[in-house]
Amino acid sequence: MFRTHTCGELRLSDVGKKVTLSGWVQRTRDKGSLLWIDLRDRYGITQLMLEEGISEQHLLEKARHLGREYVIKVTGTVSERSSKNPNIPTGEIEIMLSDIELLNASKLPPFTIEDKTDGGDELRMKYRYLDLRRNPLKHNLALRHRLAIETRNYLDSQGFYEIETPYLIKSTPEGARDFVVPSRMNPGEFYALPQSPQTFKQILMVAGYDRYFQIVRCFRDEDLRADRQPEFTQIDCEMAFVTQEDVLNTFEGMARFLFEKVKGIDVGTFERMDYATAMKMYGSDKPDIRFGMQFVELNDLAQNKGFSIFDDAELVVGFNAAGCSEYTRKQLDALTDFVKKPQIGAKGLVYVKCNADGTFKSSVDKFYSEDDLKIWAERFDAKPGDLMLILSGNTDSVRKQLNELRLEMGNQLGLRNPQVFKPLWVTDFPLLEWNEETQRFYAMHHPFTSPKPEDIHLLENEPGKVRANAYDMVINGVEVGGGSIRIHDRDLQKKMFSLLGFSDEEAQNQFGFLMNAFEFGAPPHGGIALGFDRLTALIAGYDSIRDFIAFPKNNSGRDVMIDSPSTIAQQQLDELFLKVTAVSK
Ligand code: ASP
Repeated sequence: MFRTHTCGELRLSDVGKKVTLSGWVQRTRDKGSLLWIDLRDRYGITQLMLEEGISEQHLLEKARHLGREYVIKVTGTVSERSSKNPNIPTGEIEIMLSDIELLNASKLPPFTIEDKTDGGDELRMKYRYLDLRRNPLKHNLALRHRLAIETRNYLDSQGFYEIETPYLIKSTPEGARDFVVPSRMNPGEFYALPQSPQTFKQILMVAGYDRYFQIVRCFRDEDLRADRQPEFTQIDCEMAFVTQEDVLNTFEGMARFLFEKVKGIDVGTFERMDYATAMKMYGSDKPDIRFGMQFVELNDLAQNKGFSIFDDAELVVGFNAAGCSEYTRKQLDALTDFVKKPQIGAKGLVYVKCNADGTFKSSVDKFYSEDDLKIWAERFDAKPGDLMLILSGNTDSVRKQLNELRLEMGNQLGLRNPQVFKPLWVTDFPLLEWNEETQRFYAMHHPFTSPKPEDIHLLENEPGKVRANAYDMVINGVEVGGGSIRIHDRDLQKKMFSLLGFSDEEAQNQFGFLMNAFEFGAPPHGGIALGFDRLTALIAGYDSIRDFIAFPKNNSGRDVMIDSPSTIAQQQLDELFLKVTAVSK
């Protein structure tokens, strides 16, 4: 028998019991007459001890030869510790050893396996199995597990079936490149790995499985931005005979259930905001509504007073930073530098301090009188002691820039507490997005998204104005998921493909299977997919998803532990009828 208990289990009430434990040596402390070993497993750490004169000499000898991460099995008697450690659950006891069996030795680990490690990112990824022994990662994976189980519980209780869809499929356009897999049995042909099970889940609706879900891996060959993984997991769902309202309510219910179950908190009813309002008030389609600082537009008050930068701008817009009138020159310069960073791209920042004595001090005093600034302050709802921050320029860009500044101020002022959760539905996204470079429309969500019925008449002549029955779940400024009511009519789907620049032939070739299915009684349907890695990280209060995935890839899309991707043998290439013509590394 390897163990009677785990290393996280024994308490004062177990004193006197003879126990056997197995685990890894976290460390040994040899004080000469006393020797302690911290033994670790998935469940915790238990202190083991030996005493010169009492313990058998050969055990002390054996213990002195144990290195970090050696795997041992020990037997002994639970006793009360004289100096207790209140920081760990087993901190009141220790095991007086009567036997030590070495199960396996270990090389010296390349970094310390403690809560705080000295290992850099790449090293920890290379030895992921060692990193995974650390508590922070264990907690993350435990949370992930719990969330998966509770997701299944909730969706099962709502009548959803968990149904698997294939990984070897053909291209589904979700805006990214596909990973492809050559087919040996079909020379010259390729499967694509799913960017999402989108078309399959819609076909399941046609098949009558009116509530489907799957916790499923998706693959997208995108240029890796920070915190994107080429393979990631979604909670993918679809429902038939539902309106947008039904979908929102079902998944708001799920999110609330999950927060309740794993965090014990009620995040409350989700706020709702349409896309146009989100862009106008926050400059973002995923606003962080944990704090205010909504945008205030100022064109009518600020233009035509001789300040050419404002006069020439399409939009003059700002927000009020409450309590910030005492910002120093240096702090204001830092904010100006922040908005002028190339990634943000503003030309400059205008500020107006609303002094505590009721006077104003601005960076544009030359152009605006106290009376002017007073009227601005009224519109900003700025009080003495506040600071108004204003940008100007082309509408789309200035909103994006001001969004960055707002988030930066939120950070500086400590208004983005990761343990406070403010969920939001953003609805009524535009159906299409114009791309200047390629001079054509792209689906903002994906080509299966249905236009709002009241906007269908605009499809022909003003497609850019058509709104979709599409929605995103946003929590704390993070897009947790998105979905839409789908097109279920063959002709409308065909029209959509043509708007997106597909010829009839291309559409038939790529999506004939879906359009054919639509001819056999497709019910109205819609759904959503939530990013499971991201949701887990968010609930834990983290930005980065990497440590919520057991075996993630690095920023160049590599798995440094198994060293993949890698070349394959000539014979494999031959079998697949592949010829590698250029390799650049
Ligand atoms: N397939 C979509 C996505 O991956 C989600 C959905 O529309 O249900 O974003």
